[in-house]
Amino acid sequence: MVSSTIVLYSVLNKLRLMKLKFLGTGSGWGVMIHQKRATGGIWLEMNDEKIIIDPGAGFLCKAKEYGIDPTDLTAVVVSHNHTDHATEINVAIEAMITGHDGKYGTVLASHNVLNTSDKYIRILSRFHEDLPERVLEMAPGSEANIGKIKVYGTKTEHYETKCVGFVFEGSKKVGYTSDGTYYPGMGSQFEGCDLLIVNNFLPHGNFMPGHMNTEGTIMLAMEAKPKKIVLTHFSEQMLETGPSHEAVLIEKQTGIPTTAAEDGMEIIG
Ligand SMILES: [Zn+2]
Repeated sequence: MVSSTIVLYSVLNKLRLMKLKFLGTGSGWGVMIHQKRATGGIWLEMNDEKIIIDPGAGFLCKAKEYGIDPTDLTAVVVSHNHTDHATEINVAIEAMITGHDGKYGTVLASHNVLNTSDKYIRILSRFHEDLPERVLEMAPGSEANIGKIKVYGTKTEHYETKCVGFVFEGSKKVGYTSDGTYYPGMGSQFEGCDLLIVNNFLPHGNFMPGHMNTEGTIMLAMEAKPKKIVLTHFSEQMLETGPSHEAVLIEKQTGIPTTAAEDGMEIIG
């Protein structure tokens, strides 16, 4: 009985097209420092690749807590140089190359993660830059690949001006807005997504330059028309209002199934 259960599990594992696990759903200074929600990033498995998107503070600990082996990584993807997105990029690279002789894996990251600017020091160390097989800079309009997955860079309007979002097109099409406010036309970059992950920082009725609120997510969703929406990256205000409440508002307005992510939540598609 036990062995047939294991066989069934491994068959189902092979049949699944995509798996996401949230190693964190928090955002911003206060939420991150007090870990009101974790900030370890999003684990994506698709087309035999295992990718960490935005390994912020706590990535390694949350991976262990949720039963993920970080040495399985084949790619590290970082949208911008904020601590809740990029703090553990070097740790993630060390995990990725563990068990491999020589250079291994892919790093895709925005300009300010790979370069020092007037405001930010380069977060990727010179030592860790030499460990992966490829380190590629991503910007809006960039294209790259991780194995069979095509990755496209999308434009953001965030106060870290080099921030970039992503579309991962493999056995499923998954969009990730990263941080930033809505702007007209934003949705065209995410058309045809099976799943759109939105960093819905603020609840409805709240506005802050460079950050997405619920009204912005509704406008984005009306343009992009994804099959499903998942909200994440919640601020203090969002946690007070209740992310699930905002998800209901978005679903009512757009007709698109919308879920508010929880730490450790898994999506299998
Ligand atoms: Zn940010």
